Amino acid sequence: MLPADEFWIVNWSTNCDGMCDRIDAEWSRITGQTIDAALGKGWLAAIHDDDREQVKAELNRARQSIRPFKIITRLRRADGQFRWAMAVASPKRDYRGEFIGFTGSTIDFHERARAEQELAETRQRLEAIMNAAPVGLSYSSGPDCAHVTGNRTLCSQFEIDAAENISASSPNPADVGRRVRFFELGRELTDAELPLQRAVRERREVAPVEFDVHLPSGRRWIAEASAAPIVAPDGRLFGGVAVTIDVTQRKKENEALRKSEERYRRLFETSRDGIVAVNLDGQILEANPAYQEMLGYEFEELKRLTYRDLTPQIWHEMEAKIVQEQILPFGESAEYEKEYIRKDGTVFPISLRTWTVMDEDGRIVGMRAFVRDISERAKAEAALRESEERFRALVAASSDVVYRMNPDWTEMRHLVGRDFIEDTEEASESWLEKYILPEDQPHVMAVIREAIRTKSLFELEHRVLRVDGEVGWTHSRAIPILDDSGEIKEWFGMASDITARKQADEKLRDSDRRKEEFLAMLAHELRNPLAPIKNGLDVMRAGDVDATKMTRMREIMGRQVDHLIRLVDDLLDISRINQGRIELRKASVDLSDMIHDAVAACRGIMSARDHKLTVLLPSDPVLLEADPIRLVQILTNLLNNAAKYTEVGGNIEISAGADGDCAVVRVRDNGIGIQPEMIQRIFELFAQVDCKFRHGGLGIGLALARNLVELHGGRIEALSDGVGRGAEFVVTLPRTTAQSSTAA
Ligand code: ADP
Repeated sequence: MLPADEFWIVNWSTNCDGMCDRIDAEWSRITGQTIDAALGKGWLAAIHDDDREQVKAELNRARQSIRPFKIITRLRRADGQFRWAMAVASPKRDYRGEFIGFTGSTIDFHERARAEQELAETRQRLEAIMNAAPVGLSYSSGPDCAHVTGNRTLCSQFEIDAAENISASSPNPADVGRRVRFFELGRELTDAELPLQRAVRERREVAPVEFDVHLPSGRRWIAEASAAPIVAPDGRLFGGVAVTIDVTQRKKENEALRKSEERYRRLFETSRDGIVAVNLDGQILEANPAYQEMLGYEFEELKRLTYRDLTPQIWHEMEAKIVQEQILPFGESAEYEKEYIRKDGTVFPISLRTWTVMDEDGRIVGMRAFVRDISERAKAEAALRESEERFRALVAASSDVVYRMNPDWTEMRHLVGRDFIEDTEEASESWLEKYILPEDQPHVMAVIREAIRTKSLFELEHRVLRVDGEVGWTHSRAIPILDDSGEIKEWFGMASDITARKQADEKLRDSDRRKEEFLAMLAHELRNPLAPIKNGLDVMRAGDVDATKMTRMREIMGRQVDHLIRLVDDLLDISRINQGRIELRKASVDLSDMIHDAVAACRGIMSARDHKLTVLLPSDPVLLEADPIRLVQILTNLLNNAAKYTEVGGNIEISAGADGDCAVVRVRDNGIGIQPEMIQRIFELFAQVDCKFRHGGLGIGLALARNLVELHGGRIEALSDGVGRGAEFVVTLPRTTAQSSTAA
């Protein structure tokens, strides 16, 4: 066993081939090898397996270069333990100076080697710790701080590579330390004022200081740094070390927190909503002025109450549920409504939202709520509901179209069209195109713009496109509803369907116009026969008229007077019919007799115009219950017209017969015919007026004929293939059949 504090030296020598030729007996004691075994290359067996190759290589190199060498290796001791040893040797030469081998010593080196290894390990550990540290560490190895290096964090803080010198007092101006600038409250710091430099210079620790760092790249950040000198136990100064923390983020967060707290404070003091904070028991901890005022309590009184004390019993269960199911698990509640009891006992509605309050460790310690007194709102809502109901009732009860427009009429909000115009349930911007004819839009819009400008009643009668696709008329009125500041909130309007009235107006105007023209025509028609009569009278007054001339003149005057009488009679008849004053003097008549009389009355005009008249009568009598005078008047009228509207020499035919229960008379000519579009209108009073093919006459003959036919329970119609193609008038009257005459 070797002692713990062993130390030994073994001397040896080799030949020029490196073979051991002499070794101290001490070798045997240490390694347990016999001297014989150690000679030559035997000693290598005592070297640690891992070191052996290296030892051989060193020895070979030394042999070749013939120089002294030193090898540190592990030797196996007799007890099997390894021990560090150092072999040192120098070359031997003979008297000629020839290399003849090495002579050397192997020394126990164990304690020293172990210490060195531990030191290396300590250094590595320290480096690892420094690089892993989340704070910037900088280290100056000399008392002058001319060379400062940093750990990984510091390198990234200063945006540099590991090897760079960050000393602010480096003699090399290119070093990054010379280019970084430091500021404290806006004032630039000198090198001497930096913590590391101060700690080294003053040989004492420097407490954390905060300053702004401006990097060459332009980036700025806020550093907090402290430093300490490194002093050996014997008082020698080795250098210093500094710790630098980037506090930019922390500063920002602090600032944000401070601001948010300040904002909350301000809100708390000035908010019109009540703000209240309670602990988990519901005890009130904080209550802002609005909350105190809302409830009529001083804060001192509130402090002794819980929020449940302020809430009517009926709400407790619901609210406990909200706390358990919303606030505590999710951190906040949706807005909900309940009631509070004031100090004076009155109960009022509130709406509130609640959040949890947490301590620094994130534990829920209470709740905070924003509370709003909604008495006014509740009242207003009730009033609104009522007025809304009234409005709906009004809309439902009204028979008119009801509509609402936005302030500038760009949007129709709602319209109930009453089956007159199409409903608009969704707000719509295309109402103008939908309801108003394109040609009317400019006028309608002009009236609307004026109403908007003056914020006063809009009123207009205008055309609208109806649900059925037709064009109707409406009388529309809308009033602006103003808000508190006098601005238009919306328009409320009603519109009535005045289509029927408009049409009646139109008709009235039309008939008025016709009447006027008729009067003019009448005057003209009356004047025409008067001229020959007056002429005749003048001639007679002058005397000296022969008998033939006199007879002719009397005939002319007689015809004109007859014409006048007929005109006046027709007019009288029309007015009688219109007033319902005409009376039929009915008798049983034979249709053929009536036709005979009518034809006789028209012979004159027809022969004057050289018409060829054909009369076709039934073989059997066709009996009618009719006013014979009126019936002849009807037929005369038709024959007269045929004569009037057929060229000289034309053909006219009148035919009669029975057709079932009816008697039918047809008057046909091959005259000027009737335009298709006029066929319906020729029976209207004064139809002549609109006729492009006026032929004299007043346009009352056919109207009168139709009235008289209808008074007899019959009907009359006109047929024509068009202008120049003749016309046919068909009169159908009820006839007296065998049975009905028996019955009568
Ligand atoms: P008037 O003959 O005095 O104008 P009526 O009431 O008898 O008035 O006739 C109305 C219109 O009907 C006439 O103006 C004429 O244009 C048209 N009309 C009547 N009968 C005929 C016919 N046989 N052929 C062509 N047009 C006719």
